[in-house]
Amino acid sequence: MTLPEPQPFMGITTFGRQPHTRDIDDADVAIVGIPFDSGTSHRSGTRFGPRRIREASMLLWGHNVPLAVSPFKVLKVIDYGDVDVIPVDIKKTYQNIESEVGAILKQDATVIVFGGDHSTTLPLLRAHKEKYGPLAVVHFDSHPDTWDREFGDEPYSHGTGFRRAIEEGLIDTSAYTQIGIRGPMSGANDLHEARELGARVITMDQAMSLGVGAVLREVHDKMKSKKVYVSFDIDCVDPAFAPGTGTPEVGGFSSYQALQLVRGLRGLDLIGFDLVEVSPPYDHSEITSILASNLAFEFLSLLAVSKNGQ
Ligand code: MN
Ligand code: MN
Repeated sequence: MTLPEPQPFMGITTFGRQPHTRDIDDADVAIVGIPFDSGTSHRSGTRFGPRRIREASMLLWGHNVPLAVSPFKVLKVIDYGDVDVIPVDIKKTYQNIESEVGAILKQDATVIVFGGDHSTTLPLLRAHKEKYGPLAVVHFDSHPDTWDREFGDEPYSHGTGFRRAIEEGLIDTSAYTQIGIRGPMSGANDLHEARELGARVITMDQAMSLGVGAVLREVHDKMKSKKVYVSFDIDCVDPAFAPGTGTPEVGGFSSYQALQLVRGLRGLDLIGFDLVEVSPPYDHSEITSILASNLAFEFLSLLAVSKNGQ
C-alpha cells in the first residue's frame, strides 16, 4: 500500500486534492462553494461550510468500494473555488450564482456545490433549468422549504426556495420528491402546502416504515429518463450524526442511511448536486463536514460509474 501523493494532509486545501482552477475547458466536474448564510432563519454559520467540507475531504482516499470506482481517475475534477457572494444582498448573490454556475454548465461540466444555506439552491435551479428545462428534483431535508414568506415581504430565504422554484417553473412537479421531512412545524398547513404545490412528501416516519430500498424504488420509478437534480440539506440527517447545522431536527437518517440514499440514485440521469446547511460553528469533531464530503464523494462516484457505463 502506498499513500497518495502528495500525502492527504499536505498542500493547499481543495476538494479531494483536485486542482484549483477556473479553466473549465475539458473538466467533467467542477466543485463550487457558495459561502452564503444570510438566507438562514435561525442559526447562521454555513458560510464556513465549503471551506470545512473541503478540509474534511482530505480523508477521502479515492476509491469507492461499494460502487467499485475511483472517481478522481475516471473524471477530470476541478475545484473552482467559491462564488462571489455578498452577505448583505441576496439578490446580487443570486445573480452571481446564476451567472458563474451558468457559465460552468455552458462548458458541459457538472457542478457539485457546497453551501451555504438552502436559499442558494434557487439560483442553482435557475441555472440548471436554463440548460435542461424543468428539472426532476430529489430534495433531502427535514423541512419542506415551501413557505411563502419568512421575513415580511422578502421572497427569498432558506425556507422559501422551493416554492419560488415551483412558481418560476424550474421544477417538473410530476417528478419532485422530498425525503426525510419531520419535526415540529408552524402548523399542519406546512405539509399540506408542499403537497398542494405538487411535491411528493415522504416524511421521516414514512421513509422508516417503507425502508430505504422502497423509497429509492419510488424515486427511480418517478424520475426514470428525466434530468435529475439532487439537493441535499444536511439537516435531513439526525443531529446525532450531523449536529453542525442551523435548524437541527431530531429523529433523522443515520450517516449510513444517507450514504445509501445517495448511492441508490445510481442509474438516474443526474445533472447536478448541492449539499447545503453545514454550519461548522455548531459541529463537533468535524463529523458533519466529514459526512458532507463523503456524500459529495458518493455523488461524484455515481457520475464516474455513469461515465464508465458500469
Ligand atoms: Mn432546506
Ligand atoms: Mn432543512
